[in-house]
Parts: sequence; C-alpha cells; structure tokens
Amino acid sequence: MIASIVMLLSIMNSETFAIATEDSTEITLPEETQFEIQKSEEEWRKQLTPLQFKVTRRKGTELPYENVYFDEKRDGKYNCVCCGGELFSSKEKYDSGTGWPSFYEPSAKQNIIEDHDIALFMIVKEVICKKCGAHLGHVFDDGPEPTGLRYCINSAALDFIEDK
Ligand SMILES: [Zn+2]
Repeated sequence: MIASIVMLLSIMNSETFAIATEDSTEITLPEETQFEIQKSEEEWRKQLTPLQFKVTRRKGTELPYENVYFDEKRDGKYNCVCCGGELFSSKEKYDSGTGWPSFYEPSAKQNIIEDHDIALFMIVKEVICKKCGAHLGHVFDDGPEPTGLRYCINSAALDFIEDK
C-alpha cells in the first residue's frame, strides 16, 4: 500500500516536472475566481505577443537571461503587461543571479495574489495579478532581507515604466 502511494507520488512529481519544463501548464484557478478585468482568450491573444500570452495566460516560464528585464537597473515601476496595474518597482529589485527579474517584495501588495502551486518537486507559491489573473511567476523563501522572499517574475509579464 505504502509502496504504491510512493510510486504514485513519484509519477505525479515527474509529470509536474515535465509540464513545468514544457511551459504549457493550463490555468487551474478555481472556477469561482472572478477578476476585475475579464477578457476572452481571443482578446488576450490580440493584445499580447505570443510570449506574453504564453507566460501570463498559460503559466509559461520564459528563458533565464534571455528576457528583457533581468538585468534592468533603471529606476521605475514594473506594471502588469495585461492590465497595467502596478506590481513591482526598482526599489525592491535585486540581482538574484537566476536570470529572471527578482524582487524581495511587491511594491503594490494589494494587486497581487499568492496561490499554492507544486512544481519541480517543491511546493512554491504562484504569483498572480489580482486585477486580471495574469500569471506573473513564483515566490520562494530564499530571498534577501528584509523579507527573506524572492519574487521570481517573468519579464514577459511586466511592463517597465521608467521614472522621469
Ligand atoms: Zn494584471
């Protein structure tokens, strides 16, 4: 009995791993989740580039180092690429060495939902835009002070507005 459970768990884990590496996980938010901004698949596809669509509406993950903002050092705000809502800012951004834009906290916590997700053999939290449901990335607990958190966010989910 225990052996079969262990086997089942390992199969589940390997499938999760495969899905995560293929960047094609379906959105699995509870059906009752209602976002302020609701658009059809077609509308999102028209508004977004294929990469932005894949990341934000299909929970994809862009490649490390081959994305626009991982090394961005200018002062400014990082808004949701789908709805324009403020999410992060350069004040909380730091170089995590991972190749993705990393923040120790959101600048606009009220615009973010954190949801449990299972990926890569770990339980991590998915970071979602509260206004439009866009998948942004994940939050890990290996970040720097003062929060100890690392918000690992896809550039493709962000729209950088430089401070003037
Ligand atoms: Zn949004």
